[in-house]
Amino acid sequence: MVFKYCPFCKSEMTVKKVEDRDRNICEACGYIHYENPLPSVGIIAIKDGKCLLIKRGKEPGKGHWAPPSGFVELGETLEEAAARELKEETGLIGHALELLGAYCEPNDVYGYVITIIYLFEIDSGEATAGDDAEEVKFVPLEEIPDMFFECFNKAMKKYKEKH
Ligand SMILES: [Zn+2]
Repeated sequence: MVFKYCPFCKSEMTVKKVEDRDRNICEACGYIHYENPLPSVGIIAIKDGKCLLIKRGKEPGKGHWAPPSGFVELGETLEEAAARELKEETGLIGHALELLGAYCEPNDVYGYVITIIYLFEIDSGEATAGDDAEEVKFVPLEEIPDMFFECFNKAMKKYKEKH
């Protein structure tokens, strides 16, 4: 995203090379609009040899199956963010067992996104599709489709190698 006007002093902003990259800057007050990847969490929850997947209700990847995921909110730990997203999208309560991996990939809607992927254990609840999910199901590990987000394919591969 490029700002036309400075959000601080309302002067017109421009694009100039700063620290070796083209950046959106305000020459009047010196504000530099740094752009960074957005942090998100992904949840790989395995139960009885099956992995919890949701059919995505929103772009990117609308209609594709993928593990629950979402952006980290201010003030929550990464594990809390993952537990919240799991509950919002699937109605299930769970907790993080281990970190499977962290990946930074381009995303059609949000630009570059960092996805920190946890292996989760489910403690309670009935799987029901909630926020941003059209359907929820447990898929046998050997039937997991190629997923829309490459990070989940990588994390799944890592899980299979380790467990
Ligand atoms: Zn300014």
